[in-house]
Amino acid sequence: MSSLPILVLNSGSSSIKFSVYEAGDGERTKLFEGAVDGIGTDLGKLWIKDATGKKLVDETPAVPTRAVAFKMVADALHSGDFPIPAAIGHRTVCGGPTITENQRITPELIDEIESYSALAPLHTPIAVFIMREALKLFPGVPNFAVLDTYFHRTLPEVAKQMPIPAEYVAMGVRRYGYHGISYESIIHQLEPNVPEKLIVAHLGNGASISAIRNGKCLDTSMALTPTSGIISGSRTGDIDPGIVIFILKKIAETTPNALEAADKLETVVSKKSGLLGVSELSNDMRDLRDAINAGNAKARLAVDKFTWTIARWIGSYVAELNGLDMLVFTGGIGENDIAARAEICAGLGALGIVVDPTRNNVRGEAVISADNSPVKVRVIPPAEDLIIVNHVVRLLG
Ligand code: AMP
Repeated sequence: MSSLPILVLNSGSSSIKFSVYEAGDGERTKLFEGAVDGIGTDLGKLWIKDATGKKLVDETPAVPTRAVAFKMVADALHSGDFPIPAAIGHRTVCGGPTITENQRITPELIDEIESYSALAPLHTPIAVFIMREALKLFPGVPNFAVLDTYFHRTLPEVAKQMPIPAEYVAMGVRRYGYHGISYESIIHQLEPNVPEKLIVAHLGNGASISAIRNGKCLDTSMALTPTSGIISGSRTGDIDPGIVIFILKKIAETTPNALEAADKLETVVSKKSGLLGVSELSNDMRDLRDAINAGNAKARLAVDKFTWTIARWIGSYVAELNGLDMLVFTGGIGENDIAARAEICAGLGALGIVVDPTRNNVRGEAVISADNSPVKVRVIPPAEDLIIVNHVVRLLG
């Protein structure tokens, strides 16, 4: 295959991030990356920088809508200053129950993904909007959906199945798992020495953890939506369903319309809870660490809740894997929060997890376990865009 420029698109609620790689035979070179930030706010920003970090575009245009934002990306890439992409990979959080393989995007595929928007209501509407715009604004360029749920397709039935009435299971309610592209990228970086029994903790603003056997996902903490599993920045993680019912009934006292009440409930469990809810201060770990240093007890409790939950999850995954060879931390907190890694691992000596404080005193890629630790503990930054490019190249054939 001759070298082809591949565009990777990753869209969030207020930003569209993108990168372009040159992909040849086994070669992947990042050419540049950029983003339109602040969509729908007064703080619109378009920036593009090359692989050395040099800013090529740095503007502050008005970005009232997502459509305007994506047009800016398309216009920039058609300006003649950058190579026109030969193919586009879309990070796609959830394909629903029917789309489990990464594949070429067609209008029918978009409709099918959209029909399961209720399963990932914060992500899918944005993703399908960008897919439709990309088909229009890059005519003739093949687009591919690369799914976060793809890595979790190997989950055994016992992990996928939810203990609920069959009628809801038939609607597609099950464990899907998220952050799959990040997990794939960790496996990719460990290859060819992927340990048999592996736990990867993706700890970012959203947090999840997976048990992986021989490179295949055995269990993962997120289920139907990213709100489940570990407590994260502003999400509850797993909680007693009775709490959700209690909150819903409270909301219904002032919001009699059931769908409106459900929307408000969703805001409570996914945007106002987690580290933010407990600390009443911030969803951002850096803010919480500053507050802890200043003696803030609620920030301390929020972070304790976070690390305590993760330690418990690691314990249950060691049981599920029947042992452990390696624990990997990734994501913004996993890579950078030295204290969180130390706190999580502090009580896990009996599981063979022994972190060396000096080795742990780093940000970014490192082995942080002690020489006598039966379990190797590593920090590995994810390389998600590279994985998307790899899938696109594979699917281009
Ligand atoms: P991500 O979603 O992967 O970008 O991760 C975002 C999270 O990583 C936020 O909670 C940040 O506060 C946290 N984070 C980033 N850098 C640091 C750092 N130096 N120390 C502690 N937490 C950090």
